[in-house]
Amino acid sequence: MTNLENLIGGQRRKATAGSRFEKHAPATGNLLAYVPASNTQDVDDAVRAAHTALHHGPWASAGGAARARWLQRLADLVEREADALAVLLADEQGRPAGEMQMMDVPMSVDTLRYFAGWADKLEGRMIPTDGFMGRPTLNYTRRMPVGVAAQIIPWNAPLMIAAWKLAPALAAGCTVVIKPSEDAPLSVARLGELICEAGFPDGVVNIIHGIGAEVGPALVTHPLVNKVSFTGSTEVGRSIACEAAKTFKRVTLELGGKAAQIVFADADIEQIIPSLAIGMFVNQGQTCAAGSRVLVHRSLAQAVEARLADAARSIRVGPPSDPASQMGALINQRHLARVRAHIDGALAEGAVRLAGDEAVPERGWFVRPTILGGVHPGMRIAREEVFGPVGMVIPFDSEDEAVGIANDTLFGLSASLWTQNISTAHRVAERLDVGAVAINCWSPLDARLPWGGTKHSGIGRDLSRAALDSYLEEKVVTAAL
Ligand code: NAD
Repeated sequence: MTNLENLIGGQRRKATAGSRFEKHAPATGNLLAYVPASNTQDVDDAVRAAHTALHHGPWASAGGAARARWLQRLADLVEREADALAVLLADEQGRPAGEMQMMDVPMSVDTLRYFAGWADKLEGRMIPTDGFMGRPTLNYTRRMPVGVAAQIIPWNAPLMIAAWKLAPALAAGCTVVIKPSEDAPLSVARLGELICEAGFPDGVVNIIHGIGAEVGPALVTHPLVNKVSFTGSTEVGRSIACEAAKTFKRVTLELGGKAAQIVFADADIEQIIPSLAIGMFVNQGQTCAAGSRVLVHRSLAQAVEARLADAARSIRVGPPSDPASQMGALINQRHLARVRAHIDGALAEGAVRLAGDEAVPERGWFVRPTILGGVHPGMRIAREEVFGPVGMVIPFDSEDEAVGIANDTLFGLSASLWTQNISTAHRVAERLDVGAVAINCWSPLDARLPWGGTKHSGIGRDLSRAALDSYLEEKVVTAAL
């Protein structure tokens, strides 16, 4: 059991009021940590520390090459701690450590290294004009850090998403206040220790734990915060967009999804079933890109339904302490009740459970991977984000119908499609109103590829050059000669 602390101006600190809350392990219910319940005073201290580090001291005067070295050192340390971080993530998320070793930890390292590569390449432009009032001018641009960035992290991939947000901000020269989720504070706290070990100057990265509804608004409305980058629910994203607009803060919002996986009649179903299942069930379906809506050409629908149900039944559900576990627990009891309510609601609306009613471990917050048949596009289960291991098969007859169903949602994060026909693949990819389309695979995440959505899935992009640009302002300088 751990006592977590905030990281403010390089100092580890309890919450000012001395308040704290408990974080429990999803797979066992055991107490894992006491977490500071910070208040507006703590937030103010953290933002002021970030503001001071932005304008004074070694970070303010450091060049891009120095920032790159700090980021590379941090990447080395995360790599050194890979196994321990995977276990920590597994405990706080109730998820098999193997998934963290394969995905979350290496991707965090890769993201830090990718953005370290950008830190010394923030070049401006020289722009010729016709001059000013008869005089020639020299016009050039500088890429300036946006300032203090508030970064609000969800619980479903805490280390990886913290790296997605931190790395471009630091490469750009910003300073940061991170707010980890109350449901996954441990791995980000450990990242904070590694940030200190990497030698980042005090105040460059500050970590404020606390309850979202208290700490979040204090950060989002703070006058010294220049940008808010948020990953989380669409509902909270909407409130952040409204609050941030009042002081014209820049925002990046990575919100919910309701991805379709479209299987055309020429797809090789034996080959694709494992990928479809991964798309639905990885991280217990608690991913924004979860491909929960499997749209299948009617000629294959029955076969796909049966094979997906077999695949779901074969998944071994259990705690991360059991190395044989292939799927873990949901994050907390409230979320378990929410996912169950979604399944019950779908059954009440006429869906049929083809897999998912088998027994789960007695302790912990488990749901079996569930496949639903008899789902129509208008049903609630087909429209709202469940964020759990629940997939459904919806038949279609034509390409137009498939595209129509796929796009008929408020979300627009990602989609995948499965076909041997190269023309179908690219034609449909163009018609899907989402931020990312995967052809014959499921949403590969890569630091070099932009990640974000259209419609209610958010604003802006994480990862890639696009994320770097979102932490920079382009300043133009005109000199009359
Ligand atoms: P959440 O919105 O409940 O919480 C996210 C973060 O916001 C937490 O740190 C929380 O403490 C904080 N928060 C809560 N209320 C706040 C407020 N009023 N103001 C500011 N901050 C507040 O989301 P969650 O349950 O942690 O994560 C699940 C959601 O995240 C899903 O909807 C999922 O689709 C989405 N998500 C999106 C992406 C993406 O890249 N698009 C990636 C991962 C998760």
